Amino acid sequence: MYTVFFIGTAGSGKSTLVAALSTWMEEQGFDVGVVNLDPAAEYLPYVPDIDIRDRVSARKVMKQYKLGPNASIIAAVDMVVTEAERIKEEMEVVGAPIYLIDTPGQMELFAFRQSGAYLVQKLSDTHSLVVYVADAVYIQTIDGFATTMLLALSSRIRFKKPQILAVNKADLLTEEAIVNITNWSEDPETLLESIDLPSYEKEILRSVANMGGFVEPIFVSAKTGDGLDKLYYQLQIHYTGGEDAQ
Ligand code: GDP
Ligand code: MG
Repeated sequence: MYTVFFIGTAGSGKSTLVAALSTWMEEQGFDVGVVNLDPAAEYLPYVPDIDIRDRVSARKVMKQYKLGPNASIIAAVDMVVTEAERIKEEMEVVGAPIYLIDTPGQMELFAFRQSGAYLVQKLSDTHSLVVYVADAVYIQTIDGFATTMLLALSSRIRFKKPQILAVNKADLLTEEAIVNITNWSEDPETLLESIDLPSYEKEILRSVANMGGFVEPIFVSAKTGDGLDKLYYQLQIHYTGGEDAQ
């Protein structure tokens, strides 16, 4: 069983990308399972095989414990942990060879609380991977690019899993923006020259970049389907070194 977790800031398009990639894979004839781990999702653009909301719902937590919207989402995400074992069992019963796992809208709840790292460990079988989903509109600015790379690095430190960086919503980027982003990742000096930062922070960023912290992104659009083949190919490389998983 190969588990692929989609992590990223709120609104970056994790759920839409899970929907688009799972549909694309099905069209190619691949067997794929989809898991929703967001207890606060109001609407999902796909039909999950396993849905945490059947067990934990932020809405119910809000009513039952008389919490505000924020506190109830935090509590619900923490409560997902108690269901980890059952989710894993359900995944084994469904028996898909590869699972795409959608995570809570707000990345901080999943990445920077205890529950997320535990869930990733628990639901990882022999192979697992994190797809860090970045928002194209945000990453096209100099500061947006630098902070996205640092957030993606935080996520790598947090989950301790191989990770790929998908820049979603590429349909909203001009050719020029795509070239810029690619150049910044290939040659960080082009970004460091123009970034407006105090020298100490700039040196820290330079060190991160020189150590390979500016990873090369894959451009995708969950909306148009562009780049889904490339994303799938990357998933394959991590799994088998290039051959299809099934
Ligand atoms: P999540 O919070 O990361 O799960 O983000 P969602 O999947 O809910 O998407 C947030 C918003 O971005 C929605 O309005 C989506 O329709 C939109 N969106 C997602 N992917 C794309 C894309 O590839 N292109 C464009 N233009 N919009 C997208
Ligand atoms: Mg979502």
